[in-house]
Amino acid sequence: MNLNELTNDWVNDFANPMIIAGPCSAESESQMLGTAKRLKESGAQISAFRAGIWKPRTKPNGFEGVGVIGLNWLKKVKEEYGFKTATEVANAHHVFAALEADVDILWIGARSTVNPFTVQEIAQALRGTNKPILVKNPVNPDLALWIGALERLLGQGIENVGAIHRGFSTYQKTKYRNIPNWQIALDFKNQFPNIPLFIDPSHICGNRTGLAGVAQEAFNVGYQGAIIESHEDPDNAWSDASQQITPEVLAEMISNLQIRNSDISGYEDEMGKHRTLISDMDFQLIELLSQRMKISEKIGTLKKENNIAIFQPERWKVITEYANQKASETGMSQDFIEKVFKAIHEESIEVQNGIMVNK
Ligand code: PEP
Ligand code: MN
Repeated sequence: MNLNELTNDWVNDFANPMIIAGPCSAESESQMLGTAKRLKESGAQISAFRAGIWKPRTKPNGFEGVGVIGLNWLKKVKEEYGFKTATEVANAHHVFAALEADVDILWIGARSTVNPFTVQEIAQALRGTNKPILVKNPVNPDLALWIGALERLLGQGIENVGAIHRGFSTYQKTKYRNIPNWQIALDFKNQFPNIPLFIDPSHICGNRTGLAGVAQEAFNVGYQGAIIESHEDPDNAWSDASQQITPEVLAEMISNLQIRNSDISGYEDEMGKHRTLISDMDFQLIELLSQRMKISEKIGTLKKENNIAIFQPERWKVITEYANQKASETGMSQDFIEKVFKAIHEESIEVQNGIMVNK
């Protein structure tokens, strides 16, 4: 069995999209029940209530979670408001305690996904469960590590899984707390269209204003769900105060989200026509690129015979200039055309390098 064979039918037991919401951290029984009550009354369409019981904090001496007592509060939320519950587990002890308390959905946090020993320990502790286990992307932009964590779960027979895109750490200051790097998540989605993908706009944005935009972007490309932090009194939250929103704001945000259909039925004919044209053009593009590379090979031979350096900066300058010019004439983004030509140029250098060393 490999990850591609998983059916992940578990997700059909929930609404589409599947929204998990609740406070970053469980703080007190009244904060948990108060938040759950308002989530219920606000009419927010949520499938599960989240709360961190054990909190991975960057620095010591801060609030590191209430610990197992918080599991009782999650139970109460379930009993009183009927929400399924979700929490993060970061070691075997957390897993046993959360399973014992019958938390419905568990997730592996970004700081755990980076560590194969931790993931292996968690996976082994989870053996035998059929509860959904979600895996956040690792803090560093490493797709293989993210996939590897899911493979470790599968290695222990865990077949109900999902992935959470929560963005990636950077040293640079950006408008995000964790930059989304959409391409990594989209690569994941392309490789594993069968694994439900969730967006975590809260940890990507780190603020309240960007949340709706990031969530919408994810739904535009077909994510199945979201995990969003919501607190009864966000400004006074004990962790991640700046990114949490009230249940009422969350309800409004969810109702404004446009959910895209990943199913194209009804539009197959029209879509088919466009797709045929696109495929035809792709074939032509590849054919042209191959011809272009053959010319590069000739140039490579010429450079080798005459001992000329491969990289000629003034030639590259000419190429970027006409590419930019053409981009604006045809109404395309210069940024995009530059990326394409950089890739072509790099490959061309690679090809010529091969000629220099080999023949
Ligand atoms: C969280 O969900 O509260 C959390 C700690 O997230 P992450 O693992 O993405 O940092
Ligand atoms: Mn948080």
